Amino acid sequence: MTWWLPVVLAAVALVAYVVGSATAQRQRRRTTDDLEAELARVTEQRDELQQQQEELERVALRDEVTGLGNRRFLRDRGAELGPQLADASLLLLGLDRFKEINDSMGQSAGDALLRQVTSRLLECVRTNDLVTRLSGDEFALLLPDAGDWTAARTADRVLDVVRRPFDLNGRSVQARGRIGIAHGYANVRLEELLRNADLAMSQAKAAGSDRACEFDEVMAADTTQQFSRDVEMRAALTNGDFKVYYQPLVDARDHRVVSLEALIRWEHPQRGVLPPSEFLAATERNGMIVDLGRFVLHTACQHTAGWRRKLPWLTVAVNVSERELFDPDFTAQVAGVLAATGLPPEALVLEVTETVLAAEDQITEILSPLTGMGVQCALDDFGTGHSSLSRLRHLAVDEVKIDRSFVMEISQDGAPDSPFVAAIIGLAHSLGLRVVAEGIETTVQADFLRDQGCDELQGYLFSKPVPAAKIPAILRADRAQQPPAAV
Ligand code: C2E
Ligand code: MG
Ligand code: MG
Repeated sequence: MTWWLPVVLAAVALVAYVVGSATAQRQRRRTTDDLEAELARVTEQRDELQQQQEELERVALRDEVTGLGNRRFLRDRGAELGPQLADASLLLLGLDRFKEINDSMGQSAGDALLRQVTSRLLECVRTNDLVTRLSGDEFALLLPDAGDWTAARTADRVLDVVRRPFDLNGRSVQARGRIGIAHGYANVRLEELLRNADLAMSQAKAAGSDRACEFDEVMAADTTQQFSRDVEMRAALTNGDFKVYYQPLVDARDHRVVSLEALIRWEHPQRGVLPPSEFLAATERNGMIVDLGRFVLHTACQHTAGWRRKLPWLTVAVNVSERELFDPDFTAQVAGVLAATGLPPEALVLEVTETVLAAEDQITEILSPLTGMGVQCALDDFGTGHSSLSRLRHLAVDEVKIDRSFVMEISQDGAPDSPFVAAIIGLAHSLGLRVVAEGIETTVQADFLRDQGCDELQGYLFSKPVPAAKIPAILRADRAQQPPAAV
């Protein structure tokens, strides 16, 4: 063995040791780096998951459009309040026209309306009150520690702010609200408050919009009755127990029949002939008015098309309620009925009330395809709402019907106790509108209105509303009495 061999072996061993320990160190360092990176990744994932969870909780409790709490949020708050719910009040607000606005102006306009309503609602409440959105057009306001007075005042304020016009895509749009109020009591649960407020809200709606109604026990009993009456009404429509009656409108100068108003009646097998005051509000509440209105429109157009074969100047007026008018199919429905029955559009007058005209823009939009075809439009019960005659200028109205309450003010010597009737005839004429007076019961009233220039008269003095079968005889007698004018 040469002397250098151990030296070489020792050197190789030293190099191997140095290289080996450097590699091990590198590996150790890599493992630490990897672990640190892994840790960072896990932490990041955990934060992400936490964020997602928070987001999920937020979404589960919040309404995306308005940012308000939703039904679950309200329920949680109710649970938090526990026995304190006994001293709370719940206001349920429903918005009229939300669906129509959504349908006619698009969802973004509907969302904008909801957001504007939200900020106005927040103006109406105290700091510890809770405003939530429950569904489409329904908001709930939970007012802890609020007795009858505070709840009623808040409801008034809410109705006030909802009444103010909304600016939707640069258009001024009117909406209205209906409110149900429920007060807490010992051991009440939030679900019970919600149910009671809901019943009260239906009552507010049945009484017409723009009002608040408080829940009471009688209401709960009424609901069961209402349900069976709704079932009975539906069956009556299917069985043909609803009938269209007609009341003539006569020319104020010669009392010749010029038109007929279609008026719905329920020929009840046990209770006799029921007027609209007995059932119309209920059909508006449960939505049956849309089907009932279609039935009246179709029947009236069909009958009149037949009577016009002998009396080609005859027209027919059909009442249209707010809910029917805002039904998305309304325009197509009217056009379809005219086409199916062969009644010319000029022979149909649609009667709408002043309250409907609050939503001026939408009404013009809904009615203009029809008035463009020649269908006429009358403003019914004029003087009972808030319209001013100057507003009529902007509306597609052909006729104004002075409400019976003003005709009743014409005293026996013919002088009106209020100057309204004479003023309205003059103003309406200056706008080129036809004027009809309703509810004429005496010749004094008829003569006074004729002298004031009223165009047409309608009332028991000439005829009560009668079934369709009696109309041909009335028209024959009318023609026999006076020579028909040239047509
Ligand atoms: P309206 O459209 O103002 O109809 C006139 C009402 O006055 C009718 O009451 C008619 O019978 C009554 N009337 C007419 N002349 C006289 C009179 O000389 N004296 C008295 N005391 N009353 C008179 P009716 O038929 O009970 O209808 C009440 C309301 O119900 C109508 O008022 C109308 O708003 C609504 N209505 C009637 N039929 C329909 C319908 O088919 N659809 C809709 N949406 N509403 C209808
Ligand atoms: Mg009418
Ligand atoms: Mg009327």
